[in-house]
Amino acid sequence: MQYKILITLLSIGLLTGCSTSKVVTIDEVEERFLDTMTITPSDEEMAETNYKRPVYQATATRKHDLLHTSLDVRFDWEKQHLLGKATLTLKPYFYPTNLLTLDAKGFDFHKVSILKNGVKSDTEYDYDGLQITIGLDKEYKATEEYKVYIEYTAKPNELDVEGSAAITSAKGLYFINPTGEDKTKPIQLWTQGETEASSCWFPTIDKPNERCTQEIKITVADKFQTLSNGVMKSSNKNADGTRTDYYVMDKPHAPYLFMMAVGEYAVVKESWEGIPLEYYVEPEYRPFAKEIFNHTPEMLTFFSDILGVKYPWSKYAQVIVRDFVSGAMENTTGVIFGEFVQKTDRELIDNDNDRIVAHELIHHWFGDLVTCESWSNLPLNESFANYGEYMWMEYKDGKDAAENHRMNEINGYMSQDNRGSRHDLIDFEYNNKEDMFDGHSYNKGGAILHMLRNYVGDDAFYASLNHYLQENLYSDVEAHELRIAFEDITGEDLNWFFNQWFFDQGHPEMEYSYTYSGNNLKVTVEQKQDAKSSVPVYRILMPIDIYTSKGKTRENVWVDERKQTFTFNVSEKPSLVNVDPEYTLLCQYKDVSKTTEEYVYQYYNGKEFLDRYKAIEKLQSSDLPAAKRVIVDALNDPFWVIRRKALNALGEGQEDKVMAMGKSDKHSKVRTSALKKIGQTGNKAYVGKLKSIIDTDRAYNVVGAALSSLNEIDDTEALTYASKLEKEDNSTILSAVGDIYAASGDAKHLSFFENAIPGMSGFGIFSFFEQYSSLLKNADAPTINKSMGMMKEMASNKDVWTWKRFCAAKTINDIRGSLVERLGEETDEAKRNSLQEQITSFAGMLTDIQKTETNKRLLGMYKNFK
Ligand SMILES: [Zn+2]
Repeated sequence: MQYKILITLLSIGLLTGCSTSKVVTIDEVEERFLDTMTITPSDEEMAETNYKRPVYQATATRKHDLLHTSLDVRFDWEKQHLLGKATLTLKPYFYPTNLLTLDAKGFDFHKVSILKNGVKSDTEYDYDGLQITIGLDKEYKATEEYKVYIEYTAKPNELDVEGSAAITSAKGLYFINPTGEDKTKPIQLWTQGETEASSCWFPTIDKPNERCTQEIKITVADKFQTLSNGVMKSSNKNADGTRTDYYVMDKPHAPYLFMMAVGEYAVVKESWEGIPLEYYVEPEYRPFAKEIFNHTPEMLTFFSDILGVKYPWSKYAQVIVRDFVSGAMENTTGVIFGEFVQKTDRELIDNDNDRIVAHELIHHWFGDLVTCESWSNLPLNESFANYGEYMWMEYKDGKDAAENHRMNEINGYMSQDNRGSRHDLIDFEYNNKEDMFDGHSYNKGGAILHMLRNYVGDDAFYASLNHYLQENLYSDVEAHELRIAFEDITGEDLNWFFNQWFFDQGHPEMEYSYTYSGNNLKVTVEQKQDAKSSVPVYRILMPIDIYTSKGKTRENVWVDERKQTFTFNVSEKPSLVNVDPEYTLLCQYKDVSKTTEEYVYQYYNGKEFLDRYKAIEKLQSSDLPAAKRVIVDALNDPFWVIRRKALNALGEGQEDKVMAMGKSDKHSKVRTSALKKIGQTGNKAYVGKLKSIIDTDRAYNVVGAALSSLNEIDDTEALTYASKLEKEDNSTILSAVGDIYAASGDAKHLSFFENAIPGMSGFGIFSFFEQYSSLLKNADAPTINKSMGMMKEMASNKDVWTWKRFCAAKTINDIRGSLVERLGEETDEAKRNSLQEQITSFAGMLTDIQKTETNKRLLGMYKNFK
């Protein structure tokens, strides 16, 4: 799964207090060093009368082995029910038994029977709303298979389920605009199984250490396309105008990876080595489908080759759905993406989908083919998916791009860590399994794999991954199986590496310094992480690069104490000393002795992206001419992130150069940054150039930045352009237009926002609603009242996207706040009364919205409303 949307939201500060930033509570008893599987309380703890056993999230015990699931489903769209028939083939896992317990959340059961020789015999069962326990017709041995047949109605909307961090709710099956009332949105249906929500639509053993083959018949109105796991074997029209599509998945996979999607799609097909590739997009995106899922065939080749295991499944389909609860989900052969990936060719210039497409694809090895046995072991899925993004970028876009990505991922982990959410990577102590979808399982895990690769070397790394996959094909794994695979290949005991990185928490905080005298270079490396914390002292094989006039030499030292000084005989004072020169170590670090001159030297002589990036960061505040020259030279760096960094660090007096980059830099993000700077000059000489960029550049972000800058320099011209662009169906442009209209303060532009909001999707809505309410604040009472009525309706409508509902409610809250302010300044009694009336009415609306709300997360956020 992909959780990045949440990180974006967090960074704009909207989810303060939501479950992503929740600190896993560690009470006194648990706050001990926990090794992998052994939890042994100390004697003192045992002696305590109130001793409480620490939480240990164990892998589910396997009592039965689910071998095959056969489903036949149709839907009651009005009631949002699934009408299902399930035939499950099972056998006891080891011990004989005459009882079977299945997960089945919120079902009505119509028939529960044992199926033997084609005959269904009803049997007794108990049901508690979450699990059904079925009496078998006899005691079965592990060598004996049996079948159960169940007819049921699944009612996902009538479940009371808790929302979570990566997944905004967990009802398994989602009907989108089921009765077609909302004309701005297609009718769709889709599923989301991870973590344990597949059992909201079919009875199963809903644990990641279970796996089975699958077949499914889906009956829908003929106008719909369907998608499910495996290959479509038949598609038959029925007498009642419906159609039944039949899918067979002949390789076993975990129940959380089962999927369905239904909607009016354009399906674009191609193939890779005889395996069908399918791209499901909304019909108007048909021309862009291959670009949306760009490089899919090349990625299949890349991952198959580098892992040495050919893509193991019979199909690869990717589908975009509305209102998805996560970023994307790696359902085997049927990946679901949120609509944010659905873009036109122009939108794809600014942001392609490579990373997320690579992420979901490599999950088909790490996650789908080899699956984490428990949610504590989730990093075995997500760290590889995260690192798969790096691997692909390194291959396709070059090492600089991959390293820039890794830096951002590490920053993501560090910011989560700074919020106090720290735990072992393989975390047996989580409170809620959904908490595992965080900056540890993804970002930190990816960074750890990168360290492992650098330690063992590329050949050993990929050989070990190959060995790990081959040893565990179609089965479940825990982290030790990864360690053993690396040990088998390299011949080295790697417990030390796994213990500190996989089974412990935190990261080193390093301080590097050096002195030189009398041919002796002394390099001091100190691990400064709090000695009282549970973060260990790390063992690290640390390279040190020493640059002199004779070139660069590399020394490798073992760092395994808090503070160590290493002495090297060097015949001249080095120009530069770089500890951890490839920035491999996951750590916070400080170079305490590096001078400005050394950073200048580093910019020109270091080979790594971070050599240049960090040099610019340090030099941008320096007045030394050599430092200033680095910034100017970096404007011509081959890598766009460095050019953009330099551009943002550039002092005054370079405006023409900035304008030239805004017009013709190869990368749209550099052009965008350059144009944003042009607005700050206020120089009318640039008006003509900005207008020509608005007319000609293909990238929306660039056009949006040019428009915003034009507004800063010449707001009359900007308003003319805004009215020309307000029909563009692109959130960046609409947001730039919205900015201009909001700044104009003219209430006649309110209708622009009101017309655009219903069709808008994606997280651009947050700023768009802000612009709307800033303009609305100054409108007259009838206009405000009318708008608040609209906002209330939107906020209360369950068919509207969660975040849009949130924004609508927030608008009411913002306007109410601005009226409270106005009331404070108003002295006229009549005006005071009418303001008071509005304030009371809007407060009432917010109370009503909260009454109808069932989404616990939204309710939590509403609590911050004043
Ligand atoms: Zn993932």
